[in-house]
Amino acid sequence: MKYLDTDIRYCKGIGEKKAQLFNKLGIFSVYDLVCYFPRKYEDRSDFKPIALTCDGETVCIKAIVADSPRLSHIRHGMDLVKFRVVDESGAVDITFFNQPYVTDHIHRGESLNIYGKIIGIGSRRTMSNPVIEREDAPAGVTGRIVPVYRLTTGLSQKLIMNAMRQALDACGPDLPEVLPEAVREKYRLAQSMYAYENIHFPAGFEELELARRRLVFEELFLLACALGKMKGSHKKADGISMRKVSLDEFYDSLPFTPTGAQKRAVDDAVSDMGSGCAMNRLVQGDVGSGKTLVAAALIWYAWKNGYTSAFMAPTEILAQQHFDTLSSFLGGFGIRIEKLTGSMAAKQKREVKAALKSGEIDLIIGTHALFSDDVEYSKLALVITDEQHRFGVNQRSSLISKGAKPHVMVMSATPIPRTLALMIYGDLDISVIDEMPPGRQKVDTFAVTESYRTRLNAFIRKLVGEGRQVFVVCPMIEENEELPPNMKSAQEYAAELQRYFPDLRVACVHGKLKAKAKNDIMSTFVAGDIDILVSTTVIEVGVDVPNAALMIVENADRFGLSQLHQLRGRVGRGEHKSYCVLVSDTDNEVSMSRLKVMTQTNDGFKIAEEDLKLRGPGDFFGSRQHGLPAMHIADLCSDMNVLQTAQTAAHELLQADPELTAPEHAELKNAVARLFTLNADTLN
Ligand code: ADP
Ligand code: MG
Repeated sequence: MKYLDTDIRYCKGIGEKKAQLFNKLGIFSVYDLVCYFPRKYEDRSDFKPIALTCDGETVCIKAIVADSPRLSHIRHGMDLVKFRVVDESGAVDITFFNQPYVTDHIHRGESLNIYGKIIGIGSRRTMSNPVIEREDAPAGVTGRIVPVYRLTTGLSQKLIMNAMRQALDACGPDLPEVLPEAVREKYRLAQSMYAYENIHFPAGFEELELARRRLVFEELFLLACALGKMKGSHKKADGISMRKVSLDEFYDSLPFTPTGAQKRAVDDAVSDMGSGCAMNRLVQGDVGSGKTLVAAALIWYAWKNGYTSAFMAPTEILAQQHFDTLSSFLGGFGIRIEKLTGSMAAKQKREVKAALKSGEIDLIIGTHALFSDDVEYSKLALVITDEQHRFGVNQRSSLISKGAKPHVMVMSATPIPRTLALMIYGDLDISVIDEMPPGRQKVDTFAVTESYRTRLNAFIRKLVGEGRQVFVVCPMIEENEELPPNMKSAQEYAAELQRYFPDLRVACVHGKLKAKAKNDIMSTFVAGDIDILVSTTVIEVGVDVPNAALMIVENADRFGLSQLHQLRGRVGRGEHKSYCVLVSDTDNEVSMSRLKVMTQTNDGFKIAEEDLKLRGPGDFFGSRQHGLPAMHIADLCSDMNVLQTAQTAAHELLQADPELTAPEHAELKNAVARLFTLNADTLN
């Protein structure tokens, strides 16, 4: 067994009891220990002459004990140890409260390193309970940059530092170098021993930075290799090769000119579909950027090539809407379009399935039902899924296994910063629609408190009077969740609004309704026969109601920024000036500043980055959805650029050695395997 695998309790000075405390911090082996990185550092590297220290300054000094420590009992149960230290420039009176044993360790004439806060000036300088040590102390905490570790009750900094010092000294040559030399050289990364030494006991800030950079790189590189291996990104699957067809005929049929960004996304995909390899592409575009058109163009392209396409939406409502939109884009060409959803009558479903099997359908639009076992396709070549983040990675692959190696395109309105998307969807190519169709109006956004309610209601009245429609979104309440004070449940609030506006048509959709009921209400709203639609976030994904001009979000602080952005995207889709009002009575400052961000920008990517900063990627995607293991040292937000480099490096390496069989990749292979073992639940 390697020293690194040694159980922590066998380390000198640790033992059974302490080991349990280390376990609490997730440290079980010596290797875990050396990977337990400091939370921050304190700069105690410079010693100052006493005369140059200022009142209130926290400093290191080097001084000689000028007199023997005196112990006194100042009052019941309170001990005081006092002595004076001097250097060539001045003197400081040191006091220790309730640490009588100090007297045994401090001797007159001795030279000490002292770290603490100076109080007073001139000859009246004092320090209370400073850190004191002899110059030659191992794992010293003065005269250097000192690591600060996250602790647990019963474990002190000193204890962790001592254990760390011993571990590093003992394991030195045993520390694996998981980064191949070629990678280290190419990206100018420090060696592993150097990095572990300097991340715990930095010789200076420059050394610390080098160490950190290397370890962050290592962590992200390992993850990228693991994901790459897992998803087989290094070898593309064969795909149906489509012949090149000009898209002009399709573009010319549109009521508007596609944006450059839309065309670029289409071109990316068309080139994938002609490459002989299966397309695996994520199209990311903010709400309203016109992703549906991109889908339509590709479906048209596949049809021109004689193939069937399938379009999967997360809800029936959306399937219906896509059916309508895509029919309007494609119906004119004689493309045969059908729908397949769970709520359809059995007979109808049977007919559609039969037609699919015999190849009489060119485009099938539906929900998960599209990929149930009894659905067979004849010439399926293109699968498009909308709002990808609603589907799990597993669903995605079950989808790919259907039909003959179809090309896959996923469309997402969740603007994930590109590098993070690369990581999460490691096996996907990405096109970004970074341009809005012309004439899109900005949605004016306001964050208001409850005191605004009367004015808000008057505003609803005014807009509805002008013929517009209004969305009101309330947070989703879990079945067994008790309603917190001031929380609005959709149903109750709908009733309240109906009482307030007896003459307006108020309706409510919420999660507990049957699909059919939801559908009916949504279609009524789309048709303009409901004025105010109160809902839980079920409407979040994609419905298009151009006449809706006001989006009100109740208890807005309960939503993530990206979610709010999605909701806001439901309005401003027509020619009418549109508004979004975020109502919240939170007095939490962070929540308030988050809502502020919404009023300041309409840029989904900016909002996503803010969201990421404020909540971290775990929350951002919901931890199970993003499926990444926890990071020890890398920060997925601030280490974005390293993430990108690491990703590239991993990709290059896997391309050359997909199975990591080269001898120089042995340690890397171990480390990747280890990552899989440790994260069996997320990396699968
Ligand atoms: P999303 O990306 O949110 O799915 P949609 O595809 O629903 O966006 O498009 C939003 C609206 O913009 C639709 O009404 C669509 O017809 C319109 N649209 C799409 N592309 C263009 C364009 N190039 N010029 C003008 N309007 C467009
Ligand atoms: Mg859409």
